[in-house]
Amino acid sequence: MAEIEIRTGVEAEAVVAMPAARSLFGLGLAELTELMAGLGQKAYRARQVFEALYKQRVASVEEMTTLSAALRGELVAAGWQVGLPEIAQTAVSVDGTERYLMKMADGETVETVWMPDGDGGERGDGSEAAEEEAGEVDEVVATPLMNDKAVHERGTRNYDSGYWSRRGNGRDRANFGTLAEKGFRRATICISSQVGCAVNCQFCLTAKLGIRRNLTAGEIAGQVAAVLNRHKIQIGKDRINLVFMGMGEPFLNYDAFMASVRLLVEGVGIPESRMTVSTSGILPGMEAFARETVRPKLALSLNASNDVVREQIMPVTRKWKIAALLEAVKKIPLRTREWVTFEYVLLGGVNDQPQHAREVLALLAGMRAKVNLIVWNPGPGIDYHQPTPEDVSVFQKMLIAGGIATYIRRPRGRDIYAACGQLKRTVSEPELVMIGAAANEGLLPSAPASTTTQDAFFRAKVLEALTDTRPGLTDEEARQRMAKRKAVSPFRRD
Ligand code: SAH
Ligand code: SF4
Repeated sequence: MAEIEIRTGVEAEAVVAMPAARSLFGLGLAELTELMAGLGQKAYRARQVFEALYKQRVASVEEMTTLSAALRGELVAAGWQVGLPEIAQTAVSVDGTERYLMKMADGETVETVWMPDGDGGERGDGSEAAEEEAGEVDEVVATPLMNDKAVHERGTRNYDSGYWSRRGNGRDRANFGTLAEKGFRRATICISSQVGCAVNCQFCLTAKLGIRRNLTAGEIAGQVAAVLNRHKIQIGKDRINLVFMGMGEPFLNYDAFMASVRLLVEGVGIPESRMTVSTSGILPGMEAFARETVRPKLALSLNASNDVVREQIMPVTRKWKIAALLEAVKKIPLRTREWVTFEYVLLGGVNDQPQHAREVLALLAGMRAKVNLIVWNPGPGIDYHQPTPEDVSVFQKMLIAGGIATYIRRPRGRDIYAACGQLKRTVSEPELVMIGAAANEGLLPSAPASTTTQDAFFRAKVLEALTDTRPGLTDEEARQRMAKRKAVSPFRRD
């Protein structure tokens, strides 16, 4: 809540009369049309505001120069503002990944991650972008183990080769955006859909926060606009991928998530084919998603090869079994060249053995599926082990041998705690710096054995950050708070 200032005299009236700030960003064309009609304006004004918000990505009403000064003044007087989330903190990784703490109007924060791609064809961003670019065949996937059909698919997958191929032939330099000038072919933005998450997957740090609230459509799409503005991205010239894989479960905030997709497609101009949403498997959401005409690609966090293991690591499985989720996936009418991604977090000794790989192959048989293996990123207070490199490699090779294109997602920004499942709210810049430093020194979980060697003080600090403690809270109190948060999750383990 904004602070209320007490004033006296003539000013007082003006302050009292000022309504609470209202955000324009997030309103669709229909809502803007209604707003403009209410102000006695013609319908084309709504289109101008829409363009200013989403195409030009203005940061303030004052910048909406297509509107008359009088109309701008009227909007401001009525309490309207653009209302983009504010980048309150930034952490920059050695690999170029940037992690932002985004502050919403009510002070709640979520995290958003920017992942520029160098020239190494990384797939650390979850977007599958590198696979889709012309001529980039992964050396592991393109082994003789791969069946002919898959090689054929991969070899011909060439959609969206746009800006990069133009760069190759030297024409059209004028069409280069800011990214190309910096030597990047693309960038991926990972956005959050909720403050915290209710799903309570046992391996995920975000789960520790519990759920605080849903984000609005404007807050979800606003993360994208804020990051695009920061990097001066020119949509249409720069290639941007979006992954809805940050904090939260998009399908438990379905309407706002889909409304944000529409704003990003119709307003900002990012094609839905460059968006991927990841779900832990919220069946009603998946069924609604299958009926959408404009929608991102789907990634399902499978994470286990049978219901017994999945229930242990993802209690939500008690509600919706793997078979039901796969049935729902099969009902999604896939577009040309569209494949469904199955994410699979490898937890050492839990789901990473050859029998699990065989079970995954059986589950995915006949589906237009690819698998994204994610080596588990450890976090304080989470009792799993990373898989051995050998087990990861065997798992991948077995899936490939069974005809499923399988990738290993490289962790991005691990030194700044931005990798998968590591998004969480942090309390202060010094702590972020400490987390980064500790990770770089191997104190934090970059190496397989490191979870057990973490320094106690550091663990306490991270626990504090995780549990949103204010100064003065003891570790015990922090733990209690965390336990309480867990208890509100509808999917908690007993
Ligand atoms: N809530 C959605 C999207 C956000 S999580 C979902 O669960 O799908 C994005 C991905 O990160 C999921 O596939 C999830 O399984 C994975 N993940 C969560 N915690 C992780 C961790 N500690 N290490 C690696 N991957 C993790
Ligand atoms: Fe939520 Fe996804 Fe983390 Fe599970 S993995 S707790 S669904 S953010």
